[in-house]
Amino acid sequence: MSDIFGLERGESALIIGLGRSGLACVEVLSQFGVTLYATDEQDERRLAEPIADAARFGARFVPPPELGSILDAIDFAVLSPGVGPTSPVVRRLYEFNVPVLGEIELAYRLCSAPIIAVTGTKGKSTTTALVGHLLRACGRDVRVGGNIGNPLIKEVRGIGPDGWVVAEVSSFQLETIRAFKPRVSVLLNVSPDHLDRYHSMEEYAQAKYRISANQGMTDWFIGDLDDPYVAALDWRRGETRVLARQLWLSLERPDQAAMYLRDGTLIYAPPLGDPRPIPIAERDRIPLQGEHNLRNAMAALLAALAVGCEPSSLREAVASFEPMAHRLQRVAEIDGITYVDDSKSTTPSSVIAALRTYDAPVVLIAGGRAKGSSFSPMLEEIERRRLRGVVAIGETASQILAGLRETPAVAASSLEEAVDRARGIAQSGDVVLLSPGCASFDMFTSAEARGQRFSAAVAALAAPARA
Ligand code: ADP
Repeated sequence: MSDIFGLERGESALIIGLGRSGLACVEVLSQFGVTLYATDEQDERRLAEPIADAARFGARFVPPPELGSILDAIDFAVLSPGVGPTSPVVRRLYEFNVPVLGEIELAYRLCSAPIIAVTGTKGKSTTTALVGHLLRACGRDVRVGGNIGNPLIKEVRGIGPDGWVVAEVSSFQLETIRAFKPRVSVLLNVSPDHLDRYHSMEEYAQAKYRISANQGMTDWFIGDLDDPYVAALDWRRGETRVLARQLWLSLERPDQAAMYLRDGTLIYAPPLGDPRPIPIAERDRIPLQGEHNLRNAMAALLAALAVGCEPSSLREAVASFEPMAHRLQRVAEIDGITYVDDSKSTTPSSVIAALRTYDAPVVLIAGGRAKGSSFSPMLEEIERRRLRGVVAIGETASQILAGLRETPAVAASSLEEAVDRARGIAQSGDVVLLSPGCASFDMFTSAEARGQRFSAAVAALAAPARA
């Protein structure tokens, strides 16, 4: 492994960003005897713990203003996904012609197993976890990592060429790939997100398209034909940017798709060999709610089929998948009202997907820290669906209230108050849905923490009744 850099003893690397991904790189690179430096733009007092963790693996912390003293000695740098490629530290490295790699790129170079990479604005974690589940059920040795929670670099060590690595990759991570070449790439959808980081939708979509940039003709690309930004890569439209063989899913154009729905059953139309369509699984047996999740399941099934899983084994495999927490997770039913935690909904598009999932009247709890996407489509969907009500929280509460004319809407200053208010508005048979459509960092440390607070507040509603 020494095209841009080698990992022979004596090499020196700078790890930029001491979050989970950065620390994982420190740990793995220390096993190669690499001389390690680490830096982070955060206030050093808040970094005491990660600096100590990095030091245990021999990494010396260098504050950004002091980097000049070591840059000449650095062979390559590894960038954490949270650090922008135009940050001052990264620009400095470019000036010194130091190769800057992302953690995902490094993981790829250390990985002997083929990779199935999943990206998209929404549905990545669900699809990644489902691909891992399907492959495991089909008897494959499989590791799951990346954006889903555990750094990919930790998963790729110790898995051989007969195994599979399923990687969730974000657009930020794709910005820093160079040779990353998944055997199977999955692009679920591209809808407005992170427009605080990208200048335009086109630029954001281009970052996502990079997932297949290095793929060759023996690799596979899987995409949703019904998503305009994804379908732009379809070879039939004459704008072929993808060299890999293409497998499309579609609910709108079954005649052009390798996976589609017919009479409630998902059908696979093999692109190679015997072309007769093969029934894969009944829609009712897939334990994921909503049309968006049906698409995620179709993508995951196509990935499993692409790597040779037997169609006949996938029916049971998909039925035994356990949906992930904080994604349309039903947490309680109290007085006939169902409470649903969809805290991982951080874009307006995921609020729309959540609202479309329920036939029952919904009281929506939404709001948080904006990420640059327009709320208009979400607000239009709320009005069109005549929700029972909206309880707005967080920094965007007033923006949401101002954008609604027909729907009864109130603000709440805490999640507990929001749950209380939602309970007051909801009637028996309704759904109280936490689907914020925004980042959580204005009020919480993470989307998970937000979901847990929601569940706790809902549990507190039930408590007096039990006493
Ligand atoms: P990601 O990892 O891309 O954030 P998750 O699977 O964790 O995606 O789901 C996060 C949120 O997005 C959940 O609220 C989920 O219901 C919603 N979601 C999942 N798939 C889609 C999709 N295809 N379109 C819109 N929203 C989706």
